[in-house]
Amino acid sequence: MVATSETVIRRLYQITNDYQKGFDIQITQLIMLGLERFNLDIGILSRVENDVYTVLHCVTPEGMGLNPGDTFDYNATYCQITCSSFGPVAIENMGKDDRYAKHPAYEAFGLESYIGVPIFIDDEVVGTLNFSSAIPYERSFAEVDIDALKLMASWIEVELIRRKQEERLKELNVKLEYQAFNDALTGVANRRCMFKTIHSDIERMLLAEGKGSIAVLDIDHFKQVNDKYGHQVGDDVLKKTAQALKSRLTDMDFIARFGGEEFVVWLPERSVDEREQIFSKLHQSVSEVVLDRGPITISIGVCHFDFAQKKNLECKRTVLEYLIDRADSALYEAKKQGRDRIITVSS
Ligand code: GH3
Ligand code: MG
Ligand code: MG
Repeated sequence: MVATSETVIRRLYQITNDYQKGFDIQITQLIMLGLERFNLDIGILSRVENDVYTVLHCVTPEGMGLNPGDTFDYNATYCQITCSSFGPVAIENMGKDDRYAKHPAYEAFGLESYIGVPIFIDDEVVGTLNFSSAIPYERSFAEVDIDALKLMASWIEVELIRRKQEERLKELNVKLEYQAFNDALTGVANRRCMFKTIHSDIERMLLAEGKGSIAVLDIDHFKQVNDKYGHQVGDDVLKKTAQALKSRLTDMDFIARFGGEEFVVWLPERSVDEREQIFSKLHQSVSEVVLDRGPITISIGVCHFDFAQKKNLECKRTVLEYLIDRADSALYEAKKQGRDRIITVSS
């Protein structure tokens, strides 16, 4: 039974409204609707790019062996006719058509009847929706056939644009999320991420009576780097310092840019000895950042904590602020004693 125009509109409405089924199933249903409407047996949604014709979706007679992903030379398809005319094309009997009997697609596939329309995105042809058959068409394609085809194509266009925009939004979201939690210059976590990450770690560790260390690391005489070499070199030193520090840490540890030329390192669990070895490695790591005056140095203030002994932690603002304060006063002491060293305190 040939679907009438009204049926096409109603069915198209049902198919396109059924978005829970997903784009792939909707397209297949739409192609099947077209096959029924035009009384043809091969239906294809194609992509056309750089003279390559790719089958994206197809419904074909059993055993024909045409599959999504199959590619053809675009110039050897009827869609070349469709795309280059920038509008719908309908041919009832290729072999008898003066224009197309010699077309390479006819010579290659011998399809007699064809109706197809270009798919546009942003005024550019990106593919085609086409229906065809090896058998000549018994009647002439009419204006209503073209209208039905255009209706299907326009839904596909809207849907492709919508999906493209959705894709862009997703990418943008990933980027925004990255920017929200990472320092733009050094790529390590930013202050906001630091508070979020360490706060939730502390909450968990307080319950489990965990232990660990927090440290504030500060580049020595960094102002002089800026003054002598300029801000650009200063930025570069910050980046390289962050990389050097980060490369000495494992997934278990956490580093954030706390501000200016200061970093916070969080080392949960493990023994005091192990943690101190890591801080020692961090202290040495920055020697690989060299200016012509020599390697840069950092001072580190470390605070060890053990939540099994909470006596000092009660009634303090937040545990994290308290621990950072302790590490910061150790850092101050390291600077006072001449810089380029680690000073350690306990909570
Ligand atoms: P100290 O050894 O006592 O830490 O001395 P310092 O010079 O490192 O410390 P001070 O706090 O006096 O100077 C820090 C400098 O870091 C000042 C500021 O201009 C610079 N700075 C902060 N953020 C950036 C940045 O993003 N890029 C660059 N190039 N410089 C920065
Ligand atoms: Mg400094
Ligand atoms: Mg500083």
